[in-house]
Amino acid sequence: MPERSFYKHFESIYGSRWGNLFEALLRPERQVARRSLWTFSNEILGEEAEKIHPALSNCYWIDAGKSTAPIRTEENLLDIYIMDPASVIVARALEVQPGDRVLDMCAAPGGKTLILIEALAKGGEIFANDLSSERRERLKKVIQNYVPRAVRDRVWVTGRDGVQFGLREPESFDRVLLDAPCSGERHVLENKKAQEEWSPRRGDHLAIRQYSLLSAALLALKPGGRIVYSTCSINPEENDAVVHKLFKKKKEAIRLIHQESYSLGERTDYGISFFPDQCGFGPLYFSVIEKLSV
Ligand code: SAM
Repeated sequence: MPERSFYKHFESIYGSRWGNLFEALLRPERQVARRSLWTFSNEILGEEAEKIHPALSNCYWIDAGKSTAPIRTEENLLDIYIMDPASVIVARALEVQPGDRVLDMCAAPGGKTLILIEALAKGGEIFANDLSSERRERLKKVIQNYVPRAVRDRVWVTGRDGVQFGLREPESFDRVLLDAPCSGERHVLENKKAQEEWSPRRGDHLAIRQYSLLSAALLALKPGGRIVYSTCSINPEENDAVVHKLFKKKKEAIRLIHQESYSLGERTDYGISFFPDQCGFGPLYFSVIEKLSV
């Protein structure tokens, strides 16, 4: 049975932890309502998530069972975006500065893109890229719904294979977010067909693709610039192992930027992971890499 091979595979990785992690992946994830920069309100929407991590400013826990929907403001923009708190932490770890040229290599549907755009409110530009035309349409709608027109003029939605940025635009970006296509085991468990199709080989194939995208991100990055590599997978082959491979090949050219987990996430060799059995949300893994100026 394929579901059984999924269970056995991760049991062999996580040992006695796996039972709890498996149960936690089946439960609805805890989410926050993140208030958009362009919403002028002091209204407290729920308990402030910033209490558990400083990167969660302007985020409010959504109570289980309570429906929270965005409202259109007078400026014709939506006021809140519902997302996984770990995604907020990951996007903010890129530390985009006003004036930066930013690449969001796999951007759709765009929850993290919005956070990067907000950091560019006073200047700079962003290329929000995604290979899937269908997902790109969702991304465009999200940007239209949340970003004022004047700022949108500095947002470019593109549809390349992310790998192309490496050779076509070397040393062009101050910041690159690579929120890579991954196994997404939470979604596998939500979908019977995905469970039936699951095999450990899929993770191996994805890891090869993720490494190509990460190498391209490094080529596209200016010296002194920063990459955030992230996935929503619990598979170590798609997380630390991908970053490890980059460090093995490019160790003279890069350094790891250590992140504080604030007791929420778990430190790994190259990054931090937020898994739902530990913190109630995720899974999400990320690593922050700087390209050295040599
Ligand atoms: N960053 C998004 C967000 O926070 O809303 C989620 C991105 S999702 C994890 C990965 C995305 O990568 C998918 O939308 C998929 O279409 C896109 N993708 C897959 N392969 C790609 C490639 N080779 N180049 C660019 N995008 C790709």
